[in-house]
Amino acid sequence: MMGQESRRLSDEYEVADVLGKGGFSVVRRGVSKSTGDKTYVAIKTLKRFGSTPPGMPRNRAGEKGLASVGFPMWKQVSISDALLTNEILVMRKIVEDVSPHSNVIHLYDVYEDPNGVHLVLELCSGGELFDRIVAQEKYTEAGAAAVVRQIADGLGALHRANIVHRDLKPENCLFLNNTEESPLKIMDFGLSSVEEFTDPIVGLFGSIDYVSPEALSQGRISSASDMWSLGVILYILLSGYPPFHATSNRHKQQLILAGDFSFDDHSWKTISSSAKQLISSLLTVDPHRRPTAQEILQHPWVIGDSAKQDPMDAEVVSRLHSFNARRKFRAAAIASVWSSTVFLRTKKLKTLLGSHDLTPDEIEKLRIHFKKICTKGDNATISE
Ligand code: ATP
Repeated sequence: MMGQESRRLSDEYEVADVLGKGGFSVVRRGVSKSTGDKTYVAIKTLKRFGSTPPGMPRNRAGEKGLASVGFPMWKQVSISDALLTNEILVMRKIVEDVSPHSNVIHLYDVYEDPNGVHLVLELCSGGELFDRIVAQEKYTEAGAAAVVRQIADGLGALHRANIVHRDLKPENCLFLNNTEESPLKIMDFGLSSVEEFTDPIVGLFGSIDYVSPEALSQGRISSASDMWSLGVILYILLSGYPPFHATSNRHKQQLILAGDFSFDDHSWKTISSSAKQLISSLLTVDPHRRPTAQEILQHPWVIGDSAKQDPMDAEVVSRLHSFNARRKFRAAAIASVWSSTVFLRTKKLKTLLGSHDLTPDEIEKLRIHFKKICTKGDNATISE
């Protein structure tokens, strides 16, 4: 099913509106051209920046191409090509060893042309995790537990296939559709690794909020690292703010490395002790002592036995709202700056984007930066 280069995307899909943009990608809605029921898909186009790198194997037709890649030679390829190849390798492994799973995005096909590589994916039209939660009329611990259950289910399947996501965060969890029963899908495998063959790419881009201590200290990253990220997501789901909170990235790193978080805020008083116990076990610095995805699926809070059914404190929902809004702003900022070479040259801007909490002052600075980039184009340099 995957990727013979002679087939063209446009022969089989009508490409429609843009659903979103990532650092190296554009995601568009697509509709199958085949007769019968129309199938809607998401087409993620991974842009290729350079020519096919040297050392990249040739495909069966004798041409060089990403679809033919068996083992990437990371040292010889640019970061963008490495990310691109990695995502395809991991998606292929998912198709072989995980799919279909209701909590992991499904890849239908791959096309390659001079514009890049197009991944034809299951279309998720139900929105991002936090967007749906803040829009809920009644948000409860039991609702949060249902989310954790789905993420843990998806992670369990990935981990059994030796795939470590490495970039688990709320924006990489999308609902399949708008129904109440919609499954939640884990996606975006650009930084993921397959334990037996990948030389992991260091995922230093973007926020470090969800990054485990071992990833920060360049230790061995394993499935337990994803469990840490799940612990961070759960902490935010139940409080509306992240567990490791600091105004500088350096301080935040120190807190993460020490596993220094607390349940001191008054809103935690109403949260069940079983949920707090689960968070503490997931946010344990020693990865060996963290529960696995399979284990937490047996946890009384995750099953729903000890999760409260009363509406969550209004303050939690309101904080989650602003946390989500700040995060979205930051994501949009990164996506727009990333494609510009300015990003790579502007340490100051990088630092600004790396700290997850933007003050109004910082937002204003960013706004000015972007205006300059937009006016001067890709080759602009930012001096201040
Ligand atoms: P990056 O991978 O560069 O860190 P990203 O995760 O935001 O960034 P993408 O995975 O390319 O990048 O996704 C960009 C946006 O497209 C997402 O924010 C999401 O809203 C949307 N999107 C991605 N995949 C799908 C999908 N299968 N269905 C619907 N929307 C999607």
